[in-house]
Amino acid sequence: MPELFIGGTWTAAAGGRKREIRCPADGALVASVDEAGPEDASAAVAAARDAYDSGPWPRTPAAERGELLLRTADLLERDKAEFARAESLDTGKRLVESAYDMDDVAKCFRWFGHLVAAGGHDRVVDTAPPDVDSRVVHEPVGVCSLITPWNYPLLQTSWKVAPALGAGNTFVLKPSELTPHTAVMLMRRLTEAGLPEGAANLVLGAGGVVGVPLTEDPRVDMVSFTGGLVTGRRIMAAAAPTVKKVALELGGKNPNVVFSDAAFEAAVDYAATAVFLHSGQVCSAGARLLVQEELHDAFVAEVVEQAESIRLGGPFDENARAGPLISAEHLEKVEAYVEAGLAEGAVLRCGGSRPGDPELADGFYYLPTVLDECTPDMTVVRDESFGPVLTVERFRDEEEAVALANDTVYGLAGAVWTGDPARADRVASRMRAGTVWINDFHPYVPQAEWGGMKQSGFGRELGPAGLAEYLEAKHIWRNLSPSPQRWFA
Ligand code: NAD
Repeated sequence: MPELFIGGTWTAAAGGRKREIRCPADGALVASVDEAGPEDASAAVAAARDAYDSGPWPRTPAAERGELLLRTADLLERDKAEFARAESLDTGKRLVESAYDMDDVAKCFRWFGHLVAAGGHDRVVDTAPPDVDSRVVHEPVGVCSLITPWNYPLLQTSWKVAPALGAGNTFVLKPSELTPHTAVMLMRRLTEAGLPEGAANLVLGAGGVVGVPLTEDPRVDMVSFTGGLVTGRRIMAAAAPTVKKVALELGGKNPNVVFSDAAFEAAVDYAATAVFLHSGQVCSAGARLLVQEELHDAFVAEVVEQAESIRLGGPFDENARAGPLISAEHLEKVEAYVEAGLAEGAVLRCGGSRPGDPELADGFYYLPTVLDECTPDMTVVRDESFGPVLTVERFRDEEEAVALANDTVYGLAGAVWTGDPARADRVASRMRAGTVWINDFHPYVPQAEWGGMKQSGFGRELGPAGLAEYLEAKHIWRNLSPSPQRWFA
């Protein structure tokens, strides 16, 4: 069965090209999938446009759209094991983590399903004169290009697909070329749930080839993108000539600020999870550890001990606690960041190389790495390495901690650890990031908005704003007793 889904039909790539998908844990061939070209992107946009302009979906009552999202959530739960396995093969991620992600995907569809079905977004403007009926209604934006990354393939996709469909849009989805399988499976479940033809379309392939036309095509109304900063800039520029609505969820270089009065054991434990979870391939990874001077030595020693204890392995190795990086290119990029850090004066406390274990030789593994004595000007501190690399900086007081935390072009997430609630609140409110955790790291819920400040992007996913992103407000003013105004009399 071909893997492109255009206008309700499973279609092979027009150019007949295929791409091999290999598991990053051992290089084993997962499958060969259709590799779309610009002509396929154009056909998918045409199908989405047609479904928006003349199909039933945008005109389906909100309650029914919500029901469809709820049915999709049921199907995702029914098939969770199959989805988790496919996601692990594409990403190399531990099966247990993929299973958690699939739970979150279903929760996302369920939450948006209830939100959409509840309705209540339109409102009457009751300050209008008595002979006027004035109301604000919300309409779908139109045709959306949804472009997603490889680190949480279906989760990032669900944050876009559920609200986009819930709001009544039609879309073309382009997942990362490295991790296409769960997107293909999602299209099948949306069809099974009863989504009309053309509302959901899927193209697979390289960003530069099939992603670009999705961001330039005049028939597209909105681009929602999750991925790297450099790609985000390109997408903004590509969408500018046709003034598309754009939402960008980009990277982060997230500070984890630990004061000396923090709960020591918990702060150490979370500092390790913050950065080493999914081998650091998390947009909100706590990759910059800022520790108060007097706590520094003891704290770093404990974090290093935790880092050294992390067992690496493939998705189905039950003893493994972290998996490989996504690709050979990405592994080389992470290595280069560590080398740059060492050349610029960082001190290696652990890791800093590929593992010696011959069983891991075919995968793209990198040891959990701690770079100490870092300074804000170092490349490894400034750029997102997106690998298992923790940089450690010291601070003296609250003022310096806030200044260091905010000394980044990014503003996605951050955390503060302290036993002083007033200080926690002060630091949280001064941190320029879309999410701030106090004495915690990483949790999120679909009810709360997610997104970045500064160069981490704009627009929000999840929460009520995550639905509003896919709606346009329209003011309709009806004069109930029109009579001449005689302005020019
Ligand atoms: P990437 O930017 O390389 O690719 C993301 C997607 O964009 C892929 O589907 C790719 O094919 C496509 N693409 C690439 N160039 C394109 C172009 N010119 N036009 C259109 N599409 C194009 O990112 P990645 O390596 O897949 O993902 C890692 C990045 O994603 C990290 O920077 C990470 O921080 C970020 N991310 C952010 C969030 C968030 O919520 N803010 C979540 C997950 C990942």
